[in-house]
Amino acid sequence: RDLVKTFPGRPRRTGRPGAPIRAVDGVSFDVGKGETLGLVGESGCGKSTTGRMIVRLLDPTSGTVTFEGTEIGGLSQAQLRPHRRNLQMVFQDPYSSLNPRQTVARIVSEPLLIQGASAADARERAGELMELVGLTPEHLDRYPHEFSGGQAQRIGIARSLATSPKLVIADEPVSALDVSVQAQVVNLMERLQQELGLAYVFIAHDLSVVKRVCDRVAVMYLGRIVEIGDKAEVYGNPAHPYTKALLSAVPLPDPAAERTRERIVLLGDPPSPANPPAGCTFHPRCPKAQESCRTERPLLQIVGPGGRQAACHFPEVRGPGL
Ligand code: SF4
Ligand code: MG
Repeated sequence: RDLVKTFPGRPRRTGRPGAPIRAVDGVSFDVGKGETLGLVGESGCGKSTTGRMIVRLLDPTSGTVTFEGTEIGGLSQAQLRPHRRNLQMVFQDPYSSLNPRQTVARIVSEPLLIQGASAADARERAGELMELVGLTPEHLDRYPHEFSGGQAQRIGIARSLATSPKLVIADEPVSALDVSVQAQVVNLMERLQQELGLAYVFIAHDLSVVKRVCDRVAVMYLGRIVEIGDKAEVYGNPAHPYTKALLSAVPLPDPAAERTRERIVLLGDPPSPANPPAGCTFHPRCPKAQESCRTERPLLQIVGPGGRQAACHFPEVRGPGL
């Protein structure tokens, strides 16, 4: 609820720090048991920072994180330990997130050892986890660099599942992989979700990756959620101009539809969160911007069925809407 993360500004030539950077600027959402929430936006929009705050790899500057009724945002690391097993993370780059000097056995069993498991139990469980992710117990005595990117990410997934978590934050888990193996890893994650009843926050920079896996989707821009709702609603009937632009870049499977559809090309890169534009922070790039967009910040408001929300003064919703 209302998660905010500010980082100190870079020192300027004067030697004094610049204005603090609000990397995440008031983000709220819920994730249900066994559900997948897609969290989407361009790089630097604050989605990874949001994910890291949920698992407390980063402390929020303000706001709360509640897991099964317990506010975990303010707990000390010791108080957090019993909850830690339920909240795990899969990282974007499997090689840099796996210690190159540790065997796979050590990497995968480490979360169990921290939770107090015996070495023998942890090793046995690590073997089971390898099979769960499509590798074998023989792989346990090798080192991360001996694996392909897809296999290394399977090891990262095995590690995240060691403590039987209920929620896994997957931060662009396939972005660093060859396109040919991306689908295999996504399939694996879907199968594991069904077998284990996991909930995911699936972070991606592109709406096409999460389309298959998510139940709901939240679109972030410059540290804020600009649209959130059920997948069918957001993909079928996007209300926010930024969502529309992101969707127009997703290739359509039907070539005829692909030729005739409207493509919205956004000008420029997202502005720096160190110096966000006034009013609607999307206004310098928005094809629909009006005068009021330059001065008045739009808040998330309900724009469609199922509680769908968008932060735009001129949301576009086809059909009956509310
Ligand atoms: Fe565009 Fe204005 Fe809506 Fe912002 S509030 S997304 S600038 S139309
Ligand atoms: Mg990121």
